[in-house]
Amino acid sequence: MSEWVLEANNLTRDYSVAKGFFGQRETVRALKGVSFKLAQGKTLAIVGESGCGKSTLARILTLIDPATSGELLIDGEAVAIARQKLTPALRRKVQIVFQNPYGSLNPRQKIGKVLEEPLLLNTNKTKAERKGLAMAMLEKVGLGAEHYHRYPHMFSGGQRQRIAIARALMLTPRLLVLDEPVSALDLSVQAQILNLLADLQEELDLTYVFISHDLSVVKYIADEVLVMYFGEVVEYGSRDAVFANPQHAYTQTLFAATPRADIDSIRARVTGTQPTV
Ligand code: ADP
Ligand code: MG
Repeated sequence: MSEWVLEANNLTRDYSVAKGFFGQRETVRALKGVSFKLAQGKTLAIVGESGCGKSTLARILTLIDPATSGELLIDGEAVAIARQKLTPALRRKVQIVFQNPYGSLNPRQKIGKVLEEPLLLNTNKTKAERKGLAMAMLEKVGLGAEHYHRYPHMFSGGQRQRIAIARALMLTPRLLVLDEPVSALDLSVQAQILNLLADLQEELDLTYVFISHDLSVVKYIADEVLVMYFGEVVEYGSRDAVFANPQHAYTQTLFAATPRADIDSIRARVTGTQPTV
């Protein structure tokens, strides 16, 4: 196992988009050379406004989409850009959690089956073993055996996000990419999910890429921060350095637009130093 769970060197991604009425197409470069290194057990927050390329990067890091150029290493192993050689073992190491888990949950599938499916598809475990692991995972994410037979619509937003996290962890990945995982939740529920993620990271030695546009969440969860602006990395460093002394004009604007009290509000909620409202 490599010290670096994730290494990105100059990743780019082009999209071909329709232009005008006559079927012409034009190439838009959504990522313009993104580089970083992430060590095991750490959390890298990726910040930036809507459309700057965060989800594009998330899909490349989790092997859903290919990069156009550049180099990606997972656990020290180079991922071929052409990707013919993506092995199941490599795929299992990286999992993604989306902002809206409801969209990725089959409404007719009971939660127990949701959790067992990755095991069914990727392992030789028996039915009884799969059920045992699903039950254990329900407990790990703060749900219980009574939830095993329920359907997605019977859960709250926060509970569904717990299910999405549980499903992502079923194949014991090294890296979770969390794409705005708490952005759709009420503030008090956000704090619970952030708490859960922090506990799981410690217990399972997980590495996180955490995408957010919320500086208070980033300040609470991140070890390192990477700020993107129109597909480019405009800021990259330790959380404390970036928060203390943002270098780039865009980052300075972002910070200026968020009052200090707001930046510290999630920490206060999670640690209980301030009553929740
Ligand atoms: P973010 O997650 O930061 O909001 P995205 O990665 O979703 O940003 O999008 C980055 C840019 O790439 C946007 O300009 C978006 O319109 C464009 N884009 C994203 N996905 C596609 C796609 N499948 N086809 C064409 N353009 C896309
Ligand atoms: Mg996005």
